[in-house]
Amino acid sequence: MSTILNTYAAYSKDINIKMASSSGGIFSLLAEEIINRKGIVYGVSMSQDCKYAEFIRVDTYSDLAKLRGSKYLQARVGRTYRKVKSDLESELTVLFTGTGCQINGLKNFLGKEYSNLYCIDVICHGVPSPKLWREYVEYNEKQQNKRLVSINFRCKDDSWIDFGIKRKDEGKNELYISKDKDPYMIMFLRDYCLRLSCYKCLAKNDYKSDLTLADFWGIDEVVPELNDGKGTSLVMIRTEKGRKLFEDIKKEIVFKEVSYEDGVRNNKAEYSSADRPEERNYFFDDLNVKSFEEMIIRYGKPTTISLKRKIKNKIIEMILKITERGIN
Ligand SMILES: Cc1cc2nc3c(=O)[nH]c(=O)nc-3n(C[C@H](O)[C@H](O)[C@H](O)COP(=O)(O)OP(=O)(O)OC[C@H]3O[C@@H](n4cnc5c(N)ncnc54)[C@H](O)[C@@H]3O)c2cc1C
Ligand code: SF4
Repeated sequence: MSTILNTYAAYSKDINIKMASSSGGIFSLLAEEIINRKGIVYGVSMSQDCKYAEFIRVDTYSDLAKLRGSKYLQARVGRTYRKVKSDLESELTVLFTGTGCQINGLKNFLGKEYSNLYCIDVICHGVPSPKLWREYVEYNEKQQNKRLVSINFRCKDDSWIDFGIKRKDEGKNELYISKDKDPYMIMFLRDYCLRLSCYKCLAKNDYKSDLTLADFWGIDEVVPELNDGKGTSLVMIRTEKGRKLFEDIKKEIVFKEVSYEDGVRNNKAEYSSADRPEERNYFFDDLNVKSFEEMIIRYGKPTTISLKRKIKNKIIEMILKITERGIN
């Protein structure tokens, strides 16, 4: 863990930005600030055919929408680091956003500090393999007989905490599936399909960003007044540069300072790697030989609660309600 100067719970006052973002929409405001300064923003977008995620270079407010929202797969870096260097050498202000390891990769590539470079990482518990994502898309396209045209990994139609994945096809049909029911999200959230490096993430001991963004999980235990159910970001300021950039967006956000310990109390991905489940040992061998349908059956089925358990839960709920009424 590097030094943290300040930790905040925060969200954008602009509800449209917030609803289109994974947590509180803080990324968009920081990126807009860079565009205001005639700068360049690098971040991750889905490809037009939705089959892979890639880094792109953005210099307009409208194109920032492509970077908004988490894409839950490893993004292609391609020639991005070279482009960043060229922009920096041309004395443009540059904001580079990505996972901790991508920030560290960029800094190693550059080999020196640039005063015109800002780096923001998103707390990351791991990225699934792009191959798995491609197979998921192709499986669904075959089932629906329609191509996918857009994907939202963090749709807040139910709520920010109980999010789901929303797919839109070429026939403009939209399908929302809760994260607890969608097979891809199940495999991801059970950590079956992360890159090997994610189970021993070196970036977590060596943050090189100016500022870190994450979901403020467990917000009700810390600052419930900042939870409207639509998303709150955890913001960790790591450098003076990061602090100045955050100061410049304060008029556009609702925020409250918290201690670092409170901020990460329910977010261990900030400081520790995901546990490697046993299934990870054979998941990718299976992916090479099995159909996606077979993968769903083996790895992507929702956890079912038995009828007996459901009745038991209902009885406990009723007893608790009666006891509460008795006490009050
Ligand atoms: C793969 C992944 C795993 C994550 N895991 C956690 C977690 O375990 N706990 C947690 O609290 N938060 C996690 N996050 C971060 C969280 O989902 C939000 O990205 C963060 O709260 C910022 O949200 P926002 O509302 O400010 O902006 P948003 O608009 O939601 O954030 C967009 C930013 O995310 C970047 N981004 C999107 N997809 C990728 C990608 N595939 N690779 C690199 N960068 C990407 C964009 O470049 C942009 O900078 C994860 C994000 C990603 C991408
Ligand atoms: S968990 Fe670590 S290694 Fe894996 S993508 Fe995130 S920052 Fe990189």
